[in-house]
Parts: sequence; structure tokens; C-alpha cells
Amino acid sequence: MRTSTIISAAILSIIFVACNSEHTRPSFDLDPEIEKSIEEKINSLSLEEKVGQTCQITLDAILKKNASNILIEPHQIDPKKLEEAIYKYKIGSVLNVSNHTFSLNKWNGLVSSIQEKAMTSKSKIPVIYGVDAIHGATYIKNSTLFPQEIGLAATWDTSLARQMGEVTAYETRASGVSWNFSPVLDLGRTPIWSRFFETLGEDVYLAKTLGAKIIAGYQGSGKIGNERVAACLKHYVGYSFPRTGRDRTPALIPERTMKEYYLPPFEEAIKNGALTVMINSGEVNGIPGHANKHLLTDILKNEWGFAGFTVSDWEDFINLHTVAQTDSTLKDAIATAINAGVDMSMVPNNPEYKTYCKLLLALINEKKVSLSRLDDAVRRILRVKHALGLFEDLTVDATNYPNFGSKKHIEKAYRAASESITLLKNTKNTLPLKKNQNIMVIGPTANSLNCLNGAWTHTWQGVDDQYNNIHPTIVEAIKGDSKNTTHFKGSLMKMEMGDEKDYAFKDLKDAVKNAKNFDVAVVCLGELPSTERPGDLYSLDMAQEQKNIVAQLYKTGIPIVLVLVEGRPKIISPVEPLAGAIIQAYLPGDQGGRAVSDILFGKINPSGKLPYTYPRNSGVIMHYDHKQSELINGNTWQNNFFNPQWNFGHGLSYTTFEYSNLTVSKNALSISKNETATINVDVKNSGEIAGKEVVQLYTRDHYASISPPLRKLSRYVKTKLNPGEIKTLSFTISANELGFYGVTNHWTNEIGMHSFYIDRLEKSIYLNH
Ligand code: BGC
Repeated sequence: MRTSTIISAAILSIIFVACNSEHTRPSFDLDPEIEKSIEEKINSLSLEEKVGQTCQITLDAILKKNASNILIEPHQIDPKKLEEAIYKYKIGSVLNVSNHTFSLNKWNGLVSSIQEKAMTSKSKIPVIYGVDAIHGATYIKNSTLFPQEIGLAATWDTSLARQMGEVTAYETRASGVSWNFSPVLDLGRTPIWSRFFETLGEDVYLAKTLGAKIIAGYQGSGKIGNERVAACLKHYVGYSFPRTGRDRTPALIPERTMKEYYLPPFEEAIKNGALTVMINSGEVNGIPGHANKHLLTDILKNEWGFAGFTVSDWEDFINLHTVAQTDSTLKDAIATAINAGVDMSMVPNNPEYKTYCKLLLALINEKKVSLSRLDDAVRRILRVKHALGLFEDLTVDATNYPNFGSKKHIEKAYRAASESITLLKNTKNTLPLKKNQNIMVIGPTANSLNCLNGAWTHTWQGVDDQYNNIHPTIVEAIKGDSKNTTHFKGSLMKMEMGDEKDYAFKDLKDAVKNAKNFDVAVVCLGELPSTERPGDLYSLDMAQEQKNIVAQLYKTGIPIVLVLVEGRPKIISPVEPLAGAIIQAYLPGDQGGRAVSDILFGKINPSGKLPYTYPRNSGVIMHYDHKQSELINGNTWQNNFFNPQWNFGHGLSYTTFEYSNLTVSKNALSISKNETATINVDVKNSGEIAGKEVVQLYTRDHYASISPPLRKLSRYVKTKLNPGEIKTLSFTISANELGFYGVTNHWTNEIGMHSFYIDRLEKSIYLNH
């Protein structure tokens, strides 16, 4: 054996030890040469340098402030603070923008100065810079903004998910930032939760498949060049299911539910090479996310072989002491989190980060955190810095990114927006509109790019107008398409003391009085952007003042088209019957105005499908994958309690589709555990215009030792059909996939009948041993 092979073998064994299991392979390919250089680097680092690598600070911590501790505009790095952070505390990472968006050049300057300083430090380790570019490069002026994840999920199109990832990565990297705190893989099963819009909806299979494609877009498939970024899976795990619906409040999730619903999107993402993971800021079953060694080390790192690093969420080491109160001192909290398996601490403020570095150093010296655990964290962080090419090329130069904010990118965002928008209702041919109609456009979301984009856009809460001003709002786009358009406000939404307050606007009277002069009213309802704790709601109900616009106009007899611009399904049941047509726009991003208008006028045939069950009553939050026991209606004693406003997967088109010939491969009618079944179905465009249909295959296990859900989405595909065209679609499913987590919480297959459903068609098979 040659020496280099011996060294490589030794390094590989370190890799496997680093992944902490003899059997688990690392979640992405590790280059033995790079691993070797990482080990050498680790051996050369002082304790302080190692501790510093695990410390992440916010940009604020190194910006100039005035005597009252307020950031000076325009933001500038304070050279002394930067020097202290890099030279003295040897920090490894910086995050975020402070207060507002920057130009590309500003970003280039900021990131370059940080990297230049890092490369003149003794260790010469580049800094990894991370931001929340969650629907495009959200903190760069003139970037391309896509629909928020909930809208992206409504496209049911994996290629669009990938494109969103690619464009976002390219534009983020143009700024010098190489790490994106996205995608959110928490399931959206609690619509009142303030971050529902950041999820890919309620279904595990949809989230898992789309999430994997977003990651492929962010990271690419081979070496991460300088047009890609590291993905960061959020928020591992169980964050999205708080019992109260309020952000960062306790969740109760049994192990089986965790395995069946909340873990799979993360596991799939890890299999797809995701480089980093951010931890759940809340608690599950009484254990804070940051203290949960079982989830962080046993499952994520050992069982799944995750080879990248985990980062805490905002201040969450501190929160173990101050909020969760599971540790009586900050020092104990730091030990708990690091020992549980968190590799980097988003401390993130100044002077708190200095305290963090000092306390972690003391913990190492006192052996309350082992050196090998610290080395493991540093090894993982350096691995990701290498994967991003930061050790090779730190050039930060926007001129290398000619496609930033380009027409080509904007068209991709427009396509994603137009394919997400979902036609929920269309009676009496209310839609599409005709350009010669006299159109009234009214409602608080009609003229707001902020509302189309949602939070995490230019600012954290996304409510500052001054940055959202380039692309057309809904009313501007409609006016661009039809001169016979008149705009009324109808009502106003204002953020007051952290809550949205709605007010009737004086022009509502004029709108009602003049309604007879219009052929149709396009009523744009919704909510103000918000996220995290500021987005906590008291009720899912659509604001009374907004519903009132619909009620008043209805009395005049004018046909009504409702356009919903909302990050979660607000209850609209009182006014739903008053509208001839209803469009769900979600938070479609900067291209949303254009996309809504093109759908209203029929230039685009809608093809979005709901990625969640739209509730009819705020007290009845049920999901499409409910159980038989949830169906019993105590008033009628019939099994009809599931009566949402619209079901998961619902979405109309301006054409019609017919399904026929659902077949299951003959030899699969009775299959054993190791076999597969092939399911075919014919879909026909039976209408008069071309359209796209999402073919959805659901499965059902008829009797099982753990009460089974009545439906589970198992496959889907979006396909385009010309008028009269018929396509045969084929899906293959392994019998093993029809299993579930059984009594002992292990995946199990029981013999018995299973059914496949596509549209209203059904076929059953028998699973034997
Ligand atoms: C959020 C994360 C986000 C982080 C950095 C936290 O408050 O929970 O989703 O990535 O801030 O902005």
C-alpha cells in the first residue's frame, strides 16, 4: 500500500467516525484529500480558533452605531468591531442584513471586507455568510423574487422548484453570500401558525419531493461552483406543529407521527446531499430542539450519516436558559446544545457572542464539552466551507453575474407564479374576464407588492414599502391589460402594536354606489406580511372589513371575482357563496401582479392545486389524510364531517379533464412485500383549450394495526394536454411503500387490501407475505 493510500484509509476511517457509525455512509461524497487537509487544519488550530469557528454573529454586531446604539445609515462596517470579531474572537460565520435590503455592490463590499479580514487572520479560514433568501435573493435590491414556498408547492412542479433554487442560488452568490437558510421543510399542518406560508404545505410526499428539488437547485449536482449556495434545512424538527398555533410554543408529537410525517422531508433532503441544517427553536414533547440529542445526534448524524453541520436558530443557546428554562445557567445551556449535537451557535449579537466564546472555551477546559465534540463541529464546518469553494476562491464580484435580475430569471419567476395560482371556484363562466368589460378592482391587497411578496422580503417582516417598487401590483397589471379599469381601496390594513387592524375606507361607498356601471368587481383580499412571533394571530377569520366589501358589492348584483393574497387559508366561508369565481394567489412574489392579471384574462390557463386543505371553519382544522374516526358527524350520525371549503389537491382549469382506464399491472393485483405495482391511467383534455393537469395518485391501506388514514398522496405528475389529447400516465409503487410505522414504531407491512385512487377512479390490490 502506498503512503497516500494509507493516509486516505486513515482519513476515511475518521470520516466514518465523524459520521459516528460504522455502517452509515456520509450523506455526501467526501474527498479524502480535502478531509486530510481539514484534519491538518484542525490540528493546527488553537482552542480559541476552534471555538470561534462555531460562533455566528449578525452583521449588526460589526456595524457602526451612534451614541444611542442605533445603526448609522448607510450601514458601514466598523473596522474595530470587525477586527475584534475576526482577530480576537476568530468567529466563523456572519448572518443577515441589518434592517433592510442592500444593493449588489454594497453586498460585494461588505462581504469582501469580512473575507479580506478573515484571510489576514492567523488561521486564514474564510467566513461563511448566510442569509434567508427564501423565495429569491430577498435581501438584494432588484433581485428576482419567486412565490413563497406555499405558492411554489401549489405548482406541484418539481422542475419549477429546481429553477427557483437555481435562480436564487445564482443571485445570492452574486452578492458574495454562499449559504442560504432555506428550504423550510416543516410541514404546514397548522394554518394559523405564522410561518405556514414558508412551508411546502401539509403533505409529507409533496414536501419531500419538492424540497429535494429546491436543494438540487441551490447546491447543483456536482461540485458547488460559484453560482450555487449551501442549503440549510429548517427547522429540524417538529417546529411547525405548535399546540397553540403560536410561534415557538410547545409541540407534542408522538414518535410514530414524527417518523411518518415530520422527519421524512428532512431525511430525503439529507439523502440529496443538503449541507447544513438549522434547529427547531421550539420544543417537542418537552425537549427543546437544541437539547434533543436523540434527534440531532442519534438520528440526523448517526442514522442518516449527515456529514455537514447544524446551526442553532436565533439566540437559541441563550434561550435554553432564558426561555425553555431547561438549563439554570447560560454556560450549562451552551454545554447542553453542543453536547446534543449543535455545531454552530447563531449567538448572534454583540457583546453576547464574546460571552459565548469565553464560556465555550471554559467548558472545554473543564471537560464539560469534550475536545473531540468540538473538533467534530469544526470538522463539519470546515467541510462545508470547502464544499462551497471558499478556500479556493473568495472573489466577490457582481459583474461575474450578468443574469442577476435578468429577463430570463424574471420569466422563470413569472412562470412559477402563474403555475401556482389556483382557481378555486368558477361558476357561470365568471372567468376569464374580457378586455372590453368595465372592471372594478378593489380591496386592500390590490395595490401592494408587499402583500404579493410576504415577509422575509427586503426586510424581516416585509412591510416596508420603499424597496418594493419595480414590478406591477395586481391593479397596475390589470390596468396594463385593460384600460376600462377603475381602482378603489375599499379597506385598509395597518400594523398596529404588532397586529393587523383593518379599516373600511371611505371610497367603499362610491364603489357600491357606482357598481352598476361595472361589469365585474375583482375583490383582492388577504393579509399584511408577517412572520415568526409578530405574525401570531388570534383568529384565522378573514377580517370583517374585508368580508364587508364583498357583502356590500354583492347586494348591487355585480359579479364578483375574489382574489386571495394570503400566506395561510383565511376563513372566507361567509362570503364564498357571494363570489362567482375565487382565485388563490398565495404569496406569488414580484411577478404575482402580472400572473394574476394573465389568469383573470385567460392568457394563462390556471393549473395550481392547493397544497393544503382549505378549512371552512376555524374550529375544524382537518387534513386530507384524516382517519375514519374523524368523519363521524355528531349531528347527522353520518360519516360526513370532513367538509372543508376546498380539499387538498383541488384546483380548477379553464378546460376540463377526464380520467379513465385506471389499471394495475396484472401480476400486482396480489403482490408480496418485495414486488412493485404499476398503475396506469388515461387523462384526456376534454375541453377546448390547452391546459395543465396535476395527476394525483392516492393510496389507502384498508385495515391496519395502527388506525390508517383514508388517503395518502403517493405520486403526482403535472402534464400538459392539448384539446382532445389523451395521455396514458404510469406510476410504479413498491409494496413496501404501502407500509406504515407499526406498534413498535418500525416500518411494517401487513397483509391486506390496499386501494389506489386517481380522481374518482379506484382499483384495489391485495398485499400478501
Ligand atoms: C428564524 C430562522 C432564520 C433565522 C435567521 C430565525 O429567527 O427562525 O428561520 O433563518 O432567524 O434570520
